[in-house]
Amino acid sequence: MKILCETVVQDRQTQRNRSLRYVKSTLAVGYNNSAKDADGKNIRQLEIMHFTPQNKVGERFKVTNNIEKIFSKFLRDGKVTIGFKEPPINLMINCDPIQLKGFLHTIKLGLEGKDSMNLRLNIAAATAIPQRSQPQEKMTIVRRGDYPIKGFPRTLKSLKIANIQLLKITFDICSLRNLTVLDLSDNQINKVPREMGRLSLVSFAINNNQLGTANEWDWLRGKQIQKSLRELDLSNNELTYFPHDLIRLEQLVGLKLSHNKIKRVPFGFRRLRNLRNLYIASNLLSSLPSDFNLMRILVLDVWGNEFGMKMDHRISGEHNVHSAPPLWLSAARTVCQNKVPYSAATVPWLLLDILAESPLCACRKICFDTPIIERAVMATLDNIKTLISNREHLIYADIVLCGAGCAGRKQVLSYEQQP
Ligand SMILES: [Zn+2]
Repeated sequence: MKILCETVVQDRQTQRNRSLRYVKSTLAVGYNNSAKDADGKNIRQLEIMHFTPQNKVGERFKVTNNIEKIFSKFLRDGKVTIGFKEPPINLMINCDPIQLKGFLHTIKLGLEGKDSMNLRLNIAAATAIPQRSQPQEKMTIVRRGDYPIKGFPRTLKSLKIANIQLLKITFDICSLRNLTVLDLSDNQINKVPREMGRLSLVSFAINNNQLGTANEWDWLRGKQIQKSLRELDLSNNELTYFPHDLIRLEQLVGLKLSHNKIKRVPFGFRRLRNLRNLYIASNLLSSLPSDFNLMRILVLDVWGNEFGMKMDHRISGEHNVHSAPPLWLSAARTVCQNKVPYSAATVPWLLLDILAESPLCACRKICFDTPIIERAVMATLDNIKTLISNREHLIYADIVLCGAGCAGRKQVLSYEQQP
């Protein structure tokens, strides 16, 4: 029987390890049919063969009457040590627990003189299991000393560098073209380089850093990251405002912004059509935009926000729009109201942003230059499946009104008329 594993050989006399770390190895157990006893007679001898990249020929160990002890307390974790009498070494093995268990069982059968399919191997002819050199796709660095001085393997798809007081995202991280999962949490990073926007990251965690001190968000304008990013964690970053460019991440499903000092969420937030989970607990929110309920958010965590009291508004002449709206605004409203399909190919770029980011009146008319009326109505959050909030705070919404005659105005007035 042969297993692929990782091993370290420890010399019991000097207490030294032969290698600095575990190395990929093959272990084989079986009978050596050409072994000879003291008298030169052929005998069947149970042996373990150990192949490493340094020793491709393999080193043989007698098994019968040659095992000092087998430490198998951590077998369930895939760790076993076999101590041999001669030579006096400990063979420390890391392996898949099921395979390792099978290997120990085979040794036991051999020692008991029982026959087993697993012992049919002629150990004298055994060879190492060929290892396909697989490109490294995953790397985790949680100690400063492990940070690769010579750079990262170009093949990485997943990289975690956490809690090592990293100050800067170096260019070689931004140039890992295959990277899709990046975790830089618990460091001291104050900005993400613009080049990060060229990566097709799917998940990016950079919580517990200091992005709010530099507030550089150009990377969010990268066309690649806008198309790919689905999970973003910006919790605990000293953010004093909602980074507006976040609303360009239209594939975003999960957004974490908790433990910052954000006061407002912009109206353009509704552009995040795929967003399902929003964690914005422990911020300084005083309200939510009214078109929040046009989204399909399932989990909303606003715990620990103060949310201001309802404001009294006199909806008077100042909100009336007497003059006719500009032609483009009328056109934009028609596009919105009738859900006319539009794209960057048919509509000028600037108009796309206005269509997607301008506040909507309760009647769904797009409002471009009307004032925002703060905390005018109760926020409608009926679509949300899981709302995590402090019950003592009512959540009010900021609204806009498209004109004096709009039904949305009645909504505000009816609230105002309540005692
Ligand atoms: Zn309206």
